[in-house]
Amino acid sequence: MTPLPTTPASDVLVIGWGLAGLVSAAEALAAGRRVTLIDQEPRQNLGGQAWWSFGGLFLVDSPEQRRMGIRDSLDLARQDWFGNAGFDRDEDAWPRRWAEAYLEFAAGEKRAWLRERGVGFFPVVGWAERGGSGAIGPGNSVPRFHITWGTGPGILAPFIAAIERAEADGRATILPRHRVSDLIIESGAVVGARGVVLADTHAPRGVPTSREQVADFEVKADAVIVASGGIGGDHDLVRAFWPDRLGTPPTRMLTGVPAYVDGSMQAVSRAAGADLINTDRMWHYVEGIQNWDPVWPGHGIRILPGPSSLWLDATGTRLPVPLYPGFDTLGTLAHLRRTGHDHSWFVTSLKIIEKEFALSGSEQNPDLTGRDVRLLLKSRLAKGPTGPVQSFLDEGPDFVVERDLDSLLAGMRAMPGGDVLDVARVRDEVVARDREIDNEFTKDAQIAMLRSMRGYRGDRLIRTAPPHRLQDPAAGPMVAVKLHVLTRKSLGGIHTDLDGRALDASGQSIPGLFAAGEASGFGGGGGGMHGYRALEGTFLGGCLFSGRQAGRAASR
Ligand SMILES: Cc1cc2nc3c(=O)[nH]c(=O)nc-3n(C[C@H](O)[C@H](O)[C@H](O)COP(=O)(O)OP(=O)(O)OC[C@H]3O[C@@H](n4cnc5c(N)ncnc54)[C@H](O)[C@@H]3O)c2cc1C
Repeated sequence: MTPLPTTPASDVLVIGWGLAGLVSAAEALAAGRRVTLIDQEPRQNLGGQAWWSFGGLFLVDSPEQRRMGIRDSLDLARQDWFGNAGFDRDEDAWPRRWAEAYLEFAAGEKRAWLRERGVGFFPVVGWAERGGSGAIGPGNSVPRFHITWGTGPGILAPFIAAIERAEADGRATILPRHRVSDLIIESGAVVGARGVVLADTHAPRGVPTSREQVADFEVKADAVIVASGGIGGDHDLVRAFWPDRLGTPPTRMLTGVPAYVDGSMQAVSRAAGADLINTDRMWHYVEGIQNWDPVWPGHGIRILPGPSSLWLDATGTRLPVPLYPGFDTLGTLAHLRRTGHDHSWFVTSLKIIEKEFALSGSEQNPDLTGRDVRLLLKSRLAKGPTGPVQSFLDEGPDFVVERDLDSLLAGMRAMPGGDVLDVARVRDEVVARDREIDNEFTKDAQIAMLRSMRGYRGDRLIRTAPPHRLQDPAAGPMVAVKLHVLTRKSLGGIHTDLDGRALDASGQSIPGLFAAGEASGFGGGGGGMHGYRALEGTFLGGCLFSGRQAGRAASR
């Protein structure tokens, strides 16, 4: 191996250039510090997962909500957050405080802070995670999912610009292909990191890169911020931490994050004395579909579904109330894991898909990502699915599209794993569900819910199709979608205080060591500000908040 390249010492070293790392770095630069930002990937991956994200942000009592007639408040958001989180452990002391602080940020400064940086929002506020079982929890009592104009790249832009300006001035150093394997400890304080420099590559963004080592490196700094993301790219780690309450982990899952979300810094941080808490809390989706045009191995896309599709388990049994599409992610995951099968089904119509299938990911939403108003009006309000959704209908290996129910059922049976489907049962479910559409006083709770949802203008406009029979030829063709579990987010991680200082097992802060973003259980969260469940749009927001806290504290 070639000798260590020398990197000048800086005030703050940030490991990981995802949103949390970029925000920490930008804050430290704003405080006048010199910053080194390192990442194991090539420069074309600057921005990490957030670049791929849909850009949904949780805001409370925003002007966008008020314009849509939504009455929200910090108190209501607090009720929803704590009802959802279910904090119940001694180690939830810091996560609870993070949750309180984050709620105040989301109801207070967050929007103005982003607006000052040029970040804008799509005017229709979405309603993710409705919960649906009671007034207190789980779920959002009102719509709070604000989509960034420009999606994930739009959130990243101001922070990338700040760092690139500082790089041009010589105040920031960006070191791609630097993979950290150790934190350097001197006299009980973390004073830097060492590891290996990986061979350069021109692989496009998101494509897995080689781990060929070409040199060792060492970087010294007064403070080190670990912003290395979660574990969703490593299925072995996901399975190792998988909790009993979610049943057994699936044999086969799709991967919702690039391969570099590998959790490698967890062991490195632990070796430096950091305490990892709540690692059994995780957030995986149940509406994953195989990407017909994959970027990373096992690449899955999440459908952000509207509420109308009929959701059946692998055998064809309808999911219980209130596990409708878009209602309760982890409740549905826990239920499906008890069925003994890895997949489930949406049975739906083209008319529902046109209005209700949003695909999560910047590249799946070229209108919003490209801030293209004409394309947006054409794709969201005109007839027909968006271009990316149409591509899945045409090419997606999980889609069955047929003119009538019998052909649809035959197509479902013919899919891998389709042999366990009880065709007669599905036919009964579809026929009974369709009959209830014509019953004004229906006892079918999902149909009653559809009618009430259309009371919210945002849902009526772009998220909830007018209730109709799935077998209505005018709404056709009929579509079945085979759904898989899709790994995504880690809700636990490095235990931190409200300044993002990493804590050891006795709760003492480790001098010089900080953590932010998903590495510290989203939003620092002290190792998990979400508790067991998320209200959605809270991951990017958690990165903004915890990155800001850690960047400021590391600069003091
Ligand atoms: C498709 C998609 C859609 C999403 N949509 C939303 C949404 O709408 N709303 C929302 O709130 N959230 C969303 N998310 C989640 C959100 O984007 C992520 O949780 C967030 O961006 C994580 O940021 P991070 O900075 O913590 O980590 P990351 O972005 O994962 O960055 C961590 C970086 O650390 C580097 N690294 C790791 N280990 C090492 C090491 N040993 N040495 C050097 N470097 C290392 C990695 O290479 C990586 O670049 C979405 C995510 C995806 C993938």
